[in-house]
Amino acid sequence: TIAVLGATGHLGALVIDALIARGVAPDDIRAIGRSERRLATLAERGLQTARSEYGDPASLQRALDGVANALLISGSEVGRRVAQHANVIDAAKLAGVDRLVYTSAPHADDTPLVLAPEHRATEEALRASGLAYTILRDGWYTENYRGDFDQAREHGVIRNSVGEGRIASAPRRDYAEAAAVVLTGTGHENRVYEVTGDHAWSFREFAETAARVLGHPVVYETITPEQELTDLEQSGVDHGTAEFVVVLNGNTRDGLLGETNGVLSGLIGHPTEPLEQTMRGWVER
Ligand code: NDP
Repeated sequence: TIAVLGATGHLGALVIDALIARGVAPDDIRAIGRSERRLATLAERGLQTARSEYGDPASLQRALDGVANALLISGSEVGRRVAQHANVIDAAKLAGVDRLVYTSAPHADDTPLVLAPEHRATEEALRASGLAYTILRDGWYTENYRGDFDQAREHGVIRNSVGEGRIASAPRRDYAEAAAVVLTGTGHENRVYEVTGDHAWSFREFAETAARVLGHPVVYETITPEQELTDLEQSGVDHGTAEFVVVLNGNTRDGLLGETNGVLSGLIGHPTEPLEQTMRGWVER
């Protein structure tokens, strides 16, 4: 059995589709998450399901019973994830899981990226556990920039402090496929993959691409981090969140999300989806 922790989330849903597309029988997949409603939908498709909460070790151990390979999709409760992920790692060990695959962040071991510390700590716990592991250091999702596209669509302007920083994004579907590949394949034990989109774009290019897709002009304006903080707070964003956005945009400006290396397309056996294609999908939907 292959278990997917976070199966009720956006990436998890796509991992399940990718596993089934690769020939894994639905009843060999155990979907683990919190949402009863989404677990019920997965059960209707023939999957095994287990409701579990990362704060509840007993529920995790039950959920992982009889599992050979498990995927831990990093949780969404930023600030609480080190303890939560450690619970999953401990439970996997106690349940006798052979290998744990984890979705981490770019160069989590030695990057100043603001979101990296929880991933770094999780990777360290995983290595220390003695379990076989595969670490997928996922780059940024193209879907993270849907809001910028909507700004372009409504106002013809995108404004932030990222400047010329480049982003090697890929849609969730590509990262999900990579997870399915390492979960079902061999030779991925104790390996770390820096998985990113094939092309790294700048916001100037993002605006040009949006203009082409939308059929109207789109301007990209770079602002200073100070201006960005003020603008965010004036639009009602709380101080902590605004600061986080400014720091992350600084990380992006510094190129921390810009690495292209072909590892993701190599794993999935085809190019990652170009930005323009993802945007065209946004217009249709
Ligand atoms: P979602 O928020 O859609 O999914 C998160 C999943 O984690 C859900 O299945 C959720 O369960 C589960 N989960 C969270 N906390 C707990 C908990 N305490 N106990 C049990 N289950 C929990 O995120 P995505 O699928 O979009 O992204 C996957 C992960 O990737 C994120 O959680 C985050 O760590 C990271 N991320 C990466 C980005 C990138 O660009 N690379 C961008 C944004 C996030 P349920 O819904 O049932 O409660």
